[in-house]
Parts: sequence; C-alpha cells; structure tokens
Amino acid sequence: MIPYGKHQVDNDDIASVVEVLKNSFLTQGLMVPEFERRLCDYTGAGHCVAVNSGTSGLHVACLALGIGPGDLVWTSPNSFVASANCARFCGADVDFVDIDVDTRNISLEALSHKLDMACQAGRLPKAIVVVHFAGVSCDMTAIRAMTQSHGIYLIEDAAHALGGTLYGQKVGAGAHSDLTVLSFHPVKSITTAEGGAVLTNDGELSRRLKLFAQHGVTRDRGQFVENSDEADLEAEWYYQQLELGYNYRLSDLHAALGLTQLSKLDDFISRRQQLAERYHRLLEGVDIKRPVTPQGMEHAWHLYSIELISHDRLTVFREMRSRHIGVNVHYIPIHLQPYYRSLGFAAGDFPNAESFYQNALTLPIYPGLTFSQQDSVVEVLVEVLS
Ligand SMILES: *Cc1c(COP(=O)(O)O)cnc(C)c1O
Repeated sequence: MIPYGKHQVDNDDIASVVEVLKNSFLTQGLMVPEFERRLCDYTGAGHCVAVNSGTSGLHVACLALGIGPGDLVWTSPNSFVASANCARFCGADVDFVDIDVDTRNISLEALSHKLDMACQAGRLPKAIVVVHFAGVSCDMTAIRAMTQSHGIYLIEDAAHALGGTLYGQKVGAGAHSDLTVLSFHPVKSITTAEGGAVLTNDGELSRRLKLFAQHGVTRDRGQFVENSDEADLEAEWYYQQLELGYNYRLSDLHAALGLTQLSKLDDFISRRQQLAERYHRLLEGVDIKRPVTPQGMEHAWHLYSIELISHDRLTVFREMRSRHIGVNVHYIPIHLQPYYRSLGFAAGDFPNAESFYQNALTLPIYPGLTFSQQDSVVEVLVEVLS
C-alpha cells in the first residue's frame, strides 16, 4: 500500500536520538531549548514553546489567552477535531465559520458576515483558531484587518503548514496573529513522533504558554508572588505553582529528532512541491478538481486533496484502496461529529465544508514518494474514474 502520508527518518535522525540516550538528560536537558531556538530561527518567530503534541499546543494557546467558561471561540469545520476541542478543554463555547470552496480555508466573506451578525448580537468570539488546510496559509492580513478592531485574538493552527509562506514570510512568523501552533506528528512536515510547538512574538504570552505546559509551576524568582512561607523565597529548592497547568513537556529524545528533521525541512518541502506540481500536470483534463494555491502563498503540501466531480467518492475510495493506493479523506466536518451534534450543530449548518467533504479525496504525498509510485497513483485513479 502506498500511504497518503509518511515520515522520513534517516540515519542522522537515528544517530541524534541514540546520542541523547547516552546523555544524562532524557528530558529537561539542552535539546528542547535548542529545538525551540531553531524553530524561531526558521520561522522568524520571537518565542517558541515546545510541547508534547499539536493538541497540547492548541490547549495551552487557549489557556495563555485566558479563554475560559463563557467565552466563545470560532474555527473552521474543515479540520481535525483538535482545532475545536482546544476551546472546549477550557470550558468555552465553539462555533464555526464555513470555508471557501477554492482554498478550503475559512471563507473571508463568511467570516465578515458572521462578524457583523455577532457584533449586532453582542456575542463576539474571544479568539478564532484559523486552520491552514492542507498546508496553504489563510490570508492572515485580511483576517487580522477584519478582527483587530473587535479585539479578537488569532490562533493559527499551522499543523499542516510548517515550511509554507505567506507574502514572503514563513508561516509562524506571526506578523498577523497572536499565536501559531505546530504539530510534529509523523505525517506532518517534520516529525518528533509526537510533538508540537507554539510560536509567538509576545513575551508575556510565551511566559504563560510555558507555565501552562509545565504544571503551572515556575522556578523563576521574577515571577514569584508573595506567599506565607516568605523564608523559603530565596531557597534553591523553592518553586511556585501560579496556575493550574499540565505536563505537556516535549522530551529531549523527541527534540533531538526534531532538530535533525528541521535541518531537512526545506528539502522535504521542495520535494512535496515538486510532487504537487507533477500531480497538477498529470491530472490535467481528468474529471476532478485540483487544489489551487492562492496568490502570495507558498504551499507546504501536507495534503494533496482533490475533489471528485461526477463520481461516487466511496466507490472510488474503495477501488483505489483495493488496488493498494492509500487514499484518505480530509475532513469529516467537525460540527457533524456526534460530540458537536450533541452541542446543537446539525447537517446543513456549514454547506461548503459539507459538500467539500462529500467529494474530497486525499492522494498520497510525502518526501519519500517516488515519481513512479506517483505515476501508479494517477494511473489507478484514471482507470477507476473511467
Ligand atoms: C495533526 C493536527 C492537529 C493535532 O496535532 P497532534 O500533534 O496530532 O496533536 C491539530 N490540527 C490539525 C489541523 C492537525 O492536522
């Protein structure tokens, strides 16, 4: 089976992890801060906090912004459930903004309309989690322009988009958002097995991210508050818990893998771009809709997601799987999940996301996919469609 996505781990990755195993620190050593620095260097972000998954990253992002019960968070229905769940973890309410039929990201028209309605109703979101679907960035400049006057925070769910760019800046530079969340799950741009990171240019947010990812505990005297045990304040063992935090730390083993992976990120992305261009060419004239890259964006090509036009998706999916092509489907709209239906959402709420889901098919794309494997994917697809 040719899978839809796959990590690439080489000897240098293996060697760097083995090296950490011989060191005295398996966690809380030097690898994590180094990985965080390199992620800042790569993206241009001012601060980075590495965490043990993208989902943890989304959770601490919401916590750092002070999202809690009574607050409202909007996101895209065309995403993995974690993009919405992070707000629910904090006790906030979730709503969705329908997608654009071409970019499959949040629609700017739908967003503008929903903001007007919310403003009139007096119930604006505290934050919006925008999702860069398949690896192409949302138009952050436009989204910031619409939301800034309302004081709405922006969290970029960039789990798909590390390595992509927006108007010449790397995704994660954060010029038009408050926080950017990355995932290093094996199918993403680079992997640490499980892992993630949150990027920001705001030093105070970075401090809060770190606190929530590490039990709410700090050893930094500058952050200590007055307490009854004054005598201990100067003691070496002393620490304070300031918030109800979690253990979302990344280990040094994972960070070591992340460091060698990061050094190959640009190669991985150019290979993905090469494969995407090739698909685009090979699929010309085939009865499907190819993905489009909007002006000003460089795609990270996490997913190569096509839409069927006049064929039944389930039939095509099963035929291709039976012929060992590991096609997949991204995404079942979040609001149609039983959990979100139980909160009151229903079919018909976000028609563009629903109709995209009906016809969406993800073709294999990953750095190790060979041109001849890609040729077989296209060959089988064309046969199945004919
Ligand atoms: C993968 C993914 C996540 C979650 O990342 P994990 O590291 O698996 O927790 C969140 N959002 C999107 C869009 C993703 O694709």
